[in-house]
Amino acid sequence: MFSNQYDVIVLGAGASSLMLAYMAAQRGRKVLVMEKANKVGKKILMSGGGKCNFTNLYVEPENFISHNPHFVISALTRYTNWDFIGLVCEHGIEYEERKHGQLFTLNGAKEILSMLLAECNKTGRVEIKTSCEVKAVTPVDDQGFQVATSVGYFQAESVVVATGGLSVPTLGGSGIGYDIAKQFGHYVHPTRAGLVPFTFSDQFKEVTTRLSGNAVDATLSNDLNSFTEALLFTHRGLSGPSSLQLSNYWNVGQSFHINFLPYLELVDFFKTKKTSQPKVLLRTLLTEHLPKSVVLELQNLIWAESADIAIANLSDEKLEQIAQRLHAFEVKPSGTEGYRTAEVTLGGVDTTEVSSKTMESKKQKGLYFIGEVLDVSGHLGGFNFQWAWSSAHAASQYV
Ligand SMILES: Cc1cc2nc3c(=O)[nH]c(=O)nc-3n(C[C@H](O)[C@H](O)[C@H](O)COP(=O)(O)OP(=O)(O)OC[C@H]3O[C@@H](n4cnc5c(N)ncnc54)[C@H](O)[C@@H]3O)c2cc1C
Repeated sequence: MFSNQYDVIVLGAGASSLMLAYMAAQRGRKVLVMEKANKVGKKILMSGGGKCNFTNLYVEPENFISHNPHFVISALTRYTNWDFIGLVCEHGIEYEERKHGQLFTLNGAKEILSMLLAECNKTGRVEIKTSCEVKAVTPVDDQGFQVATSVGYFQAESVVVATGGLSVPTLGGSGIGYDIAKQFGHYVHPTRAGLVPFTFSDQFKEVTTRLSGNAVDATLSNDLNSFTEALLFTHRGLSGPSSLQLSNYWNVGQSFHINFLPYLELVDFFKTKKTSQPKVLLRTLLTEHLPKSVVLELQNLIWAESADIAIANLSDEKLEQIAQRLHAFEVKPSGTEGYRTAEVTLGGVDTTEVSSKTMESKKQKGLYFIGEVLDVSGHLGGFNFQWAWSSAHAASQYV
C-alpha cells in the first residue's frame, strides 16, 4: 500500500512524534514514523512511575528552561494543557490531580500511549516502522529529503526530528537529533543531565547512606532557584522531587542549601521552648518535626558538642547559629547520577534558529525539530510532556 515516498517522515516514535503524526495525518498528510527500538513510546510507558504525569494544571513559560525563554510561549498558547486534557477525556482516560497541579493517569501510562496510537490508526495515513534506526538525513534537490535507515532508504517532503535527548539510553535516549541539527548548520547548546539525583563523595555521602530511604519536606535552593518538595536520602546521595528540580539549576563544583524545616521559624521556636520547656534537649524538640534518624545525623553534623545540654543552658547566640544551619545547611554534590537516570536532557538545538510558530528550521526548509531535542526542558510535574504535545501540535499544522 505504501511506497518509500511520504509527505512527512518523523524520526523517533516517542511522545512528540506520535502526537505530530496523527495531527499531520488529520490534515491529509501521509506520514511515516521511524523508531529504532522494537516498541514505540517506551518513555511514556515508564513515565511518572508508570502512571504518566501527562500535564499540569498550571503551565507557565517560567516552568521551562531554555537559553531563549520566550520561545515556548507561542506553541504553549496554541495547544494548551486543557487541549490535551480534553483529548484524554474524549478517550475516557481516568486521571487524578496530585500535588502542585500534576495530572497522572489512574490506570497506567499505557492508556496515554494507546490513545496516541488509536488517533494515528483512525487517520489511516500513519505508518509506524519499529526496529528502524535512522542513520542519516540528506537533502534532495527541491524534493525534500532522503532518510537512510537500518532497513533501507525513504523519501519525504518534510522531515521532523523527534528523537528526544540523551537521557536514559535504555529507553531510547540518543544523540542523533543533535548530529542532524549540526549537519544542517544549527548550533547545539552543550547538553547535560537534568531532573536527576545528586551524588556525593565527601563525608555527607556517609550520612545519606545511613539515612537511605528517609524522606523529609525540605527547601533546596541556590542563587538561581528554590524548590520546596520531598527530599529523599539515597545510598548515593539526594533524590526526590526537590533534588530533581534543583538539579536543573546546578553545575559541577557548585554547592546549594537545604532548609530542613521550611515551615518553622526555628529561632522563635527555640526561644519559646527555652521558657516553656527549659530542660528539653534540641533533638527531642526537633523529633516533633523530623524523623528521629534524620535529627540524630543533623545533631552530629551541627551541634554534636551541645547534644546533651538542655535548651535553657544554650546561649541565644548558639541557638541562632544552630537554627541558621538547619535552615541553610550547605552541601556540595560531587555530581549527579547522569543520563542513566535523568528524566530530561538540558541544552540541545538552539531555538533562535527554529521558528517558534512552526518549529521549522530557519536554515533548512522542510526540516523540523520538536520535543526534547530542542533547547527546552521543563520542570518536574508534567511540563516535559506538555512541551512534547505543544511543540508537536505547532509543527503538525505546517509539515
Ligand atoms: C523515567 C522517565 C520518566 C519520565 N516521566 C515524565 C513524566 O511523568 N512527565 C513528564 O512530563 N515527563 C516525563 N519524562 C520526560 C519525558 O518522557 C520526555 O521529556 C519526553 O518523552 C520527550 O519526548 P520526545 O518525543 O522529545 O522524545 P522521546 O519520548 O524520548 O522519544 C524519542 C524517540 O526517538 C527514538 N530514537 C532515538 N534515536 C533514534 C534513531 N537513531 N532512529 C530511530 N529512532 C530513534 C527513541 O527510541 C525514542 O522512542 C520522563 C522521562 C524519563 C526518562
